[in-house]
Amino acid sequence: MTYSIALVPGDGIGPDVVHQAVEVLDAVGDRFGHTFNYVELLAGGCAIDATGEPLPADTLEAAKSCDAVLLGAVGGPKWETLPGHLRPERALLGLRAGLGVYANLRPARLLPQLKEACPIKEDVLTASHPEGKATFDLLIVRELTGGLYFGERGRSSDGESAFDTETYSKTEIERVLRAGYRAAAVRRKKLCVVDKANVLESSRLWREVAARVAPEYPDIETTYMYVDNCAMQLVRAPGQFDVIVTSNLFGDILSDEASVLTGSIGMLPSASLGDPDTSNVKNGKPVTMGLYEPIHGSAPDIAGQDVANPLATILSAALLLRYSFGLEKEAQAIEKAVELTLDRGYRTKDIASKGAGLTKEKIVGTVAMGKAVLEALEAVSV
Ligand code: NAD
Repeated sequence: MTYSIALVPGDGIGPDVVHQAVEVLDAVGDRFGHTFNYVELLAGGCAIDATGEPLPADTLEAAKSCDAVLLGAVGGPKWETLPGHLRPERALLGLRAGLGVYANLRPARLLPQLKEACPIKEDVLTASHPEGKATFDLLIVRELTGGLYFGERGRSSDGESAFDTETYSKTEIERVLRAGYRAAAVRRKKLCVVDKANVLESSRLWREVAARVAPEYPDIETTYMYVDNCAMQLVRAPGQFDVIVTSNLFGDILSDEASVLTGSIGMLPSASLGDPDTSNVKNGKPVTMGLYEPIHGSAPDIAGQDVANPLATILSAALLLRYSFGLEKEAQAIEKAVELTLDRGYRTKDIASKGAGLTKEKIVGTVAMGKAVLEALEAVSV
C-alpha cells in the first residue's frame, strides 16, 4: 500500500531528527511492503527566511493533501524578536487548526533501560503496576482546539481584573472522547476522564457526554477522576493509568508532569489527530489525519552538532503508523527496535546514565543512533 507523508523538518535539530525518522520509516516500508511517498515542506523560521511567513499557504495546502504530517521542531533565537504573528511557533497553531487536529496524544512510558532517570522510587512504581513491575505506560489525550485557551478573555475597563472562559460544546467533548476510546481499544482498554466536575459546569458537561458515549465501548472500562487527585496519582501510582482523556488546560499541565516521570525530553513522541477520513480508506481502514512531532523544541544550543537524540521523532513515526494508518505491527516494530537499541547500550548524551550500566554504554550522535535503530529493526520480530 502507498501512503503520502508531509515532512516539515523546521529549524535547529528538526531536520536532523526528521531525517533519521524517514530512514526508519523506509526500512519499515521495505520490511512490511508499504511505500511511503514524502513531500518536504517549509514551516517555522526557515519558512520566514524563504517567504516572509511562518506558515506559507502552499505548505498548509500540501500538508492537507497528504495522509499524515511528520514535524521536527520550529523556532530559534534568530526569529525571537519578530512580532507575535510572525514568530515561527505560529506555524504550529496554523498547522493544527488547518489540519483539524483536535486530540493531542502524549504517551508517557518508562522504559526499563532508562529507569534511573525516573524521579519516582522503584517501590512506589511497583506498588501501582498491575503486574508489580517498576514501570508505567500511560497515554494522555488532551483536547487541543477548545476550552480555556480558545475561550473569550479580556480585562475590565479599569484594568483591575481579567477573565478567561472555559467553554466546551458537546460535539467537542464527544469527538475527543472517541479519539480516547479508539486509542484505548489498541492499548489496555482503560479510559479515565479527568475533570473538575465537583466545581466546574463545563466539567459536568464532560461527564454527561462521557456517560452517554461510554456504553458504546463496552470492552473499555471508563472511570472518572478529579484533576487535583490525578496530579497527585501520577506521582503516587502512575501504573494505574492507561488512557487519560481531559481538557486543553488540564491536559497541558498533566502531560508535562507525566513527561518528567519518563526521564528525558529527547525520548517523548506526540500525535495530534483529527477525524478518521472514511473517504480515504487504505488497507481496509480509514486514514486519520495526524500531525506527529517530538515534544521537544528545536534545541538551538545543540543544532548542527550531531548530538540530538532522534528517538522521540522516530517514536513519533511509530505513532504515525499506528494512529493515522492503523499499521499496529509496523508501529510495534519501531518501538521494539528502539528498546533493543537501548538494550544494546546505545545512548545519546541526553540519556547517558551516570550510574550502573555505564560500562555497557556506547555514547553516539544523531546519525549513529538512527543507524543503530535500523540495525535493531532487522533483529526484532513482531
Ligand atoms: P528545547 O526543547 O528546544 O530544548 C530544551 C533543552 O533540551 C535544551 O538544552 C536542548 O538541547 C535539549 N533537547 C531538546 N531536544 C533534545 C534532543 N532531541 N536531544 C537532546 N537534547 C535535547 O526547548 P527550548 O530551548 O525552550 O526552545 C528552543 C526553541 O524551540 C524555541 O524557539 C522554542 O520556541 C522552540 N520550541 C518549539 C517547539 C515545537 O516546534 N513543537 C516546542 C518547544 C519549543
